[in-house]
Amino acid sequence: MKKIIALVLALLLIMIGCVACATPDDVADDTSETTTTPDNDNNDGDSKEKPVLKMATNAYFQPYEFYKDGKIVGIDAEIAAAIAEYMGYELEIVDMEFDSIITAVKEGSVDFGMAGMTVTEKRLLEIDFSNSYATGVQSIIVPANSPITSVDDLYADGANYKIGVQRGTTGDIYATDDFGSENVTTYDNGNGAVLALLGGDVDCVIIDNEPAKALVNANEGLAILDTSYADEDYAICIKKGNSALLEKINEAIVALTADGTIDEIVAKYIPAE
Ligand code: GLN
Repeated sequence: MKKIIALVLALLLIMIGCVACATPDDVADDTSETTTTPDNDNNDGDSKEKPVLKMATNAYFQPYEFYKDGKIVGIDAEIAAAIAEYMGYELEIVDMEFDSIITAVKEGSVDFGMAGMTVTEKRLLEIDFSNSYATGVQSIIVPANSPITSVDDLYADGANYKIGVQRGTTGDIYATDDFGSENVTTYDNGNGAVLALLGGDVDCVIIDNEPAKALVNANEGLAILDTSYADEDYAICIKKGNSALLEKINEAIVALTADGTIDEIVAKYIPAE
């Protein structure tokens, strides 16, 4: 009898073990090397290791992604964590230059990119985008006493303003199209562009509205023009052809929108005015 009980127990343990080692959804791109996580130390004593979803971002884009106490936090970081949890994955965030994100996604060294990234026709030729989870506006930062008082001033006859942008962003792409590359200086991130503005190297900075507010709050003597330069949709970018991951992420966005999670996260970082 004891032997039978032991046998049944052993079988049960094997079955539980198999459940534990199965991935919840086999959606992480299996061409990438992202499916194991040896350092799963925040699992509350649970010995099961979740598979890992790797997200690329550029963590100098407050309030979407930024460092706080050495950790990357923000709207995108929290929404991504909620999406990963919904899918049964552990989220790992990899910080890189903004203009490296699409390449990393295409090469499969990460599973997706989330960085306040605007959906554009040109980017859609290279990668797929999820449903949009937020909107953005390209804003213009000027010194408080600037002669530039509206977007129209940038287009005025004889205007020859120098514009600072973050490299590879829509601000960079649109400004270069409209005003020529000779009038646009690119920086690694918004902080760099604002430092150049404060130093008088450029006359204005074109950047997304929420990071613009954070940069203006953190630096004296700057203002954001009332008129905006462009309206945009933010979405998650995914390697073309990885439709299993795209569908799962979209399903998560729908569910997390319906249950209020996404609104809650946004409200935490962007309090209603
Ligand atoms: N929304 C802009 C873009 O997609 C800027 C994003 C960013 O700087 N993180 O190009």
